[in-house]
Amino acid sequence: MLSIYCPHCGEHREEEEFHPKGQAHIVRPLDPESCSDKEWGQYLYFRKNTRGLHHELWVHAAGCRKFFNITRDTVSYEIREVYLIGEQPSVTSDRAQS
Ligand SMILES: [Zn+2]
Repeated sequence: MLSIYCPHCGEHREEEEFHPKGQAHIVRPLDPESCSDKEWGQYLYFRKNTRGLHHELWVHAAGCRKFFNITRDTVSYEIREVYLIGEQPSVTSDRAQS
């Protein structure tokens, strides 16, 4: 079981209190009306399926109910960092993927 640090509560909690919400840093198009169907479909449905480092959006569903980001290794499940929405990840290269 993972022990996940919630940056809002300031403490580690059990994995069962959290829900993953998918890939982080997906930017909504500024003007959806001007998007082609392909561009809008890309925004809505297409996500990376990374082997290695992955930036993910999580919510502390059974706690403070706030969202935050995690950089996680999808191979080992190791959580490399936790950071707030609006911040950029500091861990961006995967030393295991060479
Ligand atoms: Zn929390």
